[in-house]
Amino acid sequence: MEYLRRNSGPRRPHYCGFIKDWQISNTSSQRFLGTRPRVILTLIRAHESAVRAELHHNNKFGITENFGIKDFLVADRHFHVKKSNNPSAHLARLRYAYSCMLTAIGYIPKGVILAVDEPPQIATSALMFTFMDGYNDPTGKWRGIPRSSIYLCPAARTLGDDSFVYAMIHELAHFANKGVDDHAYFHKQRHVYEHLSTELAFGNADCYAHFAFEAIGKSNFNIRMGMPEIQ
Ligand SMILES: [Zn+2]
Repeated sequence: MEYLRRNSGPRRPHYCGFIKDWQISNTSSQRFLGTRPRVILTLIRAHESAVRAELHHNNKFGITENFGIKDFLVADRHFHVKKSNNPSAHLARLRYAYSCMLTAIGYIPKGVILAVDEPPQIATSALMFTFMDGYNDPTGKWRGIPRSSIYLCPAARTLGDDSFVYAMIHELAHFANKGVDDHAYFHKQRHVYEHLSTELAFGNADCYAHFAFEAIGKSNFNIRMGMPEIQ
């Protein structure tokens, strides 16, 4: 996914997407409604995986030594928790981040709508965009539009189901959590991604999307517009 750095900053939107023609006639928000159950299921799996990673590290409940080890290694792969001087706190933060994303997608506060079509006058040419911690800013505005939604651009219609779910989780990571920016994309900046500090990894939306996709057995997922998913 592409992030236009000129729009960076805490109150600016996160544009994530390719620029491409599209042929499908339904709206992006209809597309969202169709894939929402898969987004929720993927987030639940990610949350479970984060819990197992945390239990493994904290060795709680006297569970066997290897319980959750795979989840812990995946958490370390994407969030570099072994480098942290407080892995327990970071693993708790990982679990909480997915809990926030699940809350955001399942709850519609005071007329705020989670996912809407991008207003035509905005025309970012992105795939989707949203605002850091927008979920917790019900009155904030950017260029006249509320910060408390995820905006689905017309190009989002061309995504395959898995790609749509992936992009939603990336956006939810920005939207439902404080300080989650874009520091490195897994596929575009792999070297940077793999060498992020723990703190930057926890502030990087793509880490949450990849951790979640590993939790549903889709390691190294690559989003490709309008094309079959490559596993
Ligand atoms: Zn992003």
